[in-house]
Amino acid sequence: MPRSGYEAGLKMIMMMEEQTTNTEKIQEQVLGEILRRNARTEYLRRFLHGQTDLKLFKKNVPIVTYEDIKPYIDRIANGEPSDILLDEPVVQFYRSSGTSGGQPKLIPATAELANKWSISFTLVRSVMTKHFGDLDQAGKRMELMFTGPEIETPSGLKATSVSTSRFKESGFRTILSKLYTSPIETIFCSDTKQSMYCQLLAGLIQREEVVMFGSVFASTVLRAIKFLEDYWQELCSNIKTGQISDWIIDSECRNAASLIMNPNPELAHSIEKICSCKSWEGIIRKVWPKAKYISALTTGVMRQYTTELEFYGGGLPLVSCIYASSEAICGINLEPLSKPSDVFYTFLPNMAYFEFLPMKKDYVTISQDQAQFDGVSHHESEMKTNNEDTEPVDLVNVKPGQCYELLVTTSAGLYRYRVGDILMVSGFHNNTPQFQFVERQNVILSIYVDKTSEADLLKAVTEAKTLLDPLGFILTGFTSYADTSSTPGHYVLFWELKGKEGNNIKELDPKIMLECCSKMEELLNYTYKIHRKENAIAALEIRVVKQGTFVALMDYYVSKGASLSQYKAPSCIKSKEALKILDSRVIGKFFSPKIPM
Ligand code: AMP
Repeated sequence: MPRSGYEAGLKMIMMMEEQTTNTEKIQEQVLGEILRRNARTEYLRRFLHGQTDLKLFKKNVPIVTYEDIKPYIDRIANGEPSDILLDEPVVQFYRSSGTSGGQPKLIPATAELANKWSISFTLVRSVMTKHFGDLDQAGKRMELMFTGPEIETPSGLKATSVSTSRFKESGFRTILSKLYTSPIETIFCSDTKQSMYCQLLAGLIQREEVVMFGSVFASTVLRAIKFLEDYWQELCSNIKTGQISDWIIDSECRNAASLIMNPNPELAHSIEKICSCKSWEGIIRKVWPKAKYISALTTGVMRQYTTELEFYGGGLPLVSCIYASSEAICGINLEPLSKPSDVFYTFLPNMAYFEFLPMKKDYVTISQDQAQFDGVSHHESEMKTNNEDTEPVDLVNVKPGQCYELLVTTSAGLYRYRVGDILMVSGFHNNTPQFQFVERQNVILSIYVDKTSEADLLKAVTEAKTLLDPLGFILTGFTSYADTSSTPGHYVLFWELKGKEGNNIKELDPKIMLECCSKMEELLNYTYKIHRKENAIAALEIRVVKQGTFVALMDYYVSKGASLSQYKAPSCIKSKEALKILDSRVIGKFFSPKIPM
């Protein structure tokens, strides 16, 4: 970071210290300002009649989901003035990926919200500088970045992902070539395959300068590694000759990549030597020897990719920087060196007004088990996610160890809005709580009256897959669905496996796979097991899919408009087309052979 940037970073951290100390006051100010500016909007007038009293806000303004405010958002998208919902002009919409649990959503975006995003990125960079030194001076970041499609709403306002709009900012373009390996044209290439190829090519050419390797989510980093596995010979041949492959036909992408290419047989040879090794353990560290860490979110549903990423990372720390959504920026990780299972996010009190709906008490035991995930906790408890009859609490009033559903009120037209995430309080930084991400709500498998949440499922998969360790297999992707095509219905898990040492998955041991099915059932909750015993639910099934299936699934969602940078593999499949993609690639089916205890 140039000196001034470094100083700005320090200032930013000091500001954060102040804000996390004066949490209550800042939160009151944030809400006060939102109400002062928005109380006269059509939406809030219905509940507040033009008043700005904070107590009245809590008494009268309802807790809502996206569906409740969608009619207002649709009206704005169709050309009505945005002051029906918010005072500040809407400059565009953010499109949430919608793959983690629902439909893609349009979220109003304002200049102030964009400014908040850039403040949070600066804060994250400052925290990284504190722990890894001045990366801006040390070299370049190899961050794989992808843009999503931009649609135009009838009002003429554009809608795109948060990351795409970040890449479009002139400030980002200015720093890109100095601080990152990917040329802007490769990021904006709409063909993700050509984009990935060219970004990898650029990162390999500049491999000695790379100080950080990553992408937003762990799954995208792994996709890049898989892509490298498939294309390293071709990439090396391009580097050797200084000529890019003919199939890169996007002219801007091709020109940008060609500009940084010179015939370099020596570099090609050294990469070939590394990539031709039988085991790819530690490949990231070997190919990019100066990388200090891997930046990728490994919390929540991304947790499933940790083992594989650690395998390729060869000891590089995995850093989850930020917890945010298209709706609001919530928190950042002040301890980037903590293990993925211990990551917590410190909330930023000036980003939005936060409220928390307590989850029922017995939810806590489940989630505490989940927090120890990698251990062998067998605590049995029934999960009740119903929190309809509880009152939300403020940011300063949350209790350590308790789980909450997050509500946000923002200056961009969301009032007491359910983000759909469940968080657990893990501690405090000054007077501001820190949260572990527990799960996405409503991602639930259910056949009868059983309810299996994302966290339950992740826990069962995480423990069951350890049975594959002695065979040298890694689970590279999983998802699930409730198959009710026959009676009784049953849970279906799709697993994609890969050999650590290139072992063929045809060597899969059916006995072990059956054990994995049984183990998963044992780890599911009480209601599941009771109804399974009563034959209201049939035996759990694992369908092993061909390698590359989860890439095909990702491609499908990207083709439907999800940005690759924001894509999160769904842990439960609801779409028929997605299911077809999975089912057409099944290479083995295994059913639990016994009733769980
Ligand atoms: P989107 O609006 O498409 O960017 O998706 C936002 C959602 O991604 C959030 O509501 C979370 O469910 C998930 N998410 C974002 N950041 C994290 C994180 N650090 N850990 C786990 N999940 C996250």
